[in-house]
Amino acid sequence: MSHTIDLLNIAPQDAPRPAGNEPRPTLIGLSRPELARTLVEAGVAERQARMRASQIWHWLYVRGVSDFAAMANISRDLRALLEEKFTIARPQIVAEQISEDGTRKWLMRFPPRGAGRPVEIETVYIPEEGRGTLCISSQVGCTLTCSFCHTGTQKLVRNLTSEEILSQLLVARDRLGDFPDAETPAGAIVPSDGRKVSNLVMMGMGEPLYNFDAVKEALLIAADGDGLSLSKRRITLSTSGVVPFIPRAGTEIGSMLAISLHAVTDELRDVLVPINKKYPLAELMQACRDYPGLSNARRITFEYVMLKGVNDSLADAKGLVRLLKGIPAKINLIPFNPWPGSNYECSDWETIERFADFVNDNGYASPIRTPRGRDILAACGQLKSESERMRKVDRMALEAMMIAGHGE
Ligand code: SAH
Ligand code: SF4
Repeated sequence: MSHTIDLLNIAPQDAPRPAGNEPRPTLIGLSRPELARTLVEAGVAERQARMRASQIWHWLYVRGVSDFAAMANISRDLRALLEEKFTIARPQIVAEQISEDGTRKWLMRFPPRGAGRPVEIETVYIPEEGRGTLCISSQVGCTLTCSFCHTGTQKLVRNLTSEEILSQLLVARDRLGDFPDAETPAGAIVPSDGRKVSNLVMMGMGEPLYNFDAVKEALLIAADGDGLSLSKRRITLSTSGVVPFIPRAGTEIGSMLAISLHAVTDELRDVLVPINKKYPLAELMQACRDYPGLSNARRITFEYVMLKGVNDSLADAKGLVRLLKGIPAKINLIPFNPWPGSNYECSDWETIERFADFVNDNGYASPIRTPRGRDILAACGQLKSESERMRKVDRMALEAMMIAGHGE
């Protein structure tokens, strides 16, 4: 049986913070140069800043500490200064659920930004044979309105900051024991191949390419070899197809790419994934062909949700094979995960298998993503729906903020 651990006894929703009561700025989620600059601004001597930044980086991302007092090789005076001016605390974990199949889900609460309200997001951990995948969110809600996606029915509340994106990984590592205990000697760091979180997918809430800068910053820190050390080949960014940002994701982040395809004609994709009206299939496929570093060992994943009677015919499978011609690709068939009020049903199992077999016979790996953590409603891409229903968060539409600077 699944079980839920309530880690905090807090009211469902805090009131907005009164103006002028901002928390101390965080040091989590800053790039190394930003970290060094921030230290200088706080009074650390310029000639020491790089060395101090490296030490702090090690404590934050190798040792996983969340308290300045644990930074043993940093002088008492500097620790006091850091403590006074900054924070490295984790977000509140409101609840942790553990499914009977080992899938875990955390509900995290982040403090308000400015005069806004606290926000809550969910992060899901999926253990599999030989690997463990963490599914993280990039936004609270989404501006896009894919017709089969529960997040698409929710307004965008706000972009997550790089700290908040990265904190999802830090919390998972804390809870899964991927960081050494504060007391263990430095030699006892969990080696990368023994860690529970080996893979990261940006497949939670939100469209990561509409929060490009924060996502980039967080993923580059997650991939940093002197820190969290996740290989870029084990980080996958999933997009509904924000074409102008796809080349930038390739050159500036260098992670693996997943495309939420779901339809093989513009006519149907306009309905399922409406951003297709702006960036139609021909443009999307060209951006995929041009994605830097593609090879048979480094393929693009195409996600395809199986919707009964909508996109699951053999003609669709043929169209898919034709569309992907020449692109090193694998296809992820996702059984549709229904939600209350959705207008779709999941395809029959035989239909999904027939579809998968056709695509397989034509040379594309096409695993069917088995539903995980159903007992805790943990499907990636459908995060938060249950807690949403329970909590009815009073949302503020801050769409303008998200789009600012991205010319969308
Ligand atoms: N916004 C990004 C990433 C988050 S969604 C994107 O669209 O790619 C992660 C994946 O889950 C996407 O492929 C999305 O289309 C899919 N998804 C969303 N709702 C779903 C549902 N109800 N059942 C199955 N898959 C769903
Ligand atoms: Fe947003 Fe992705 Fe859901 Fe579409 S599928 S509404 S882009 S989260």
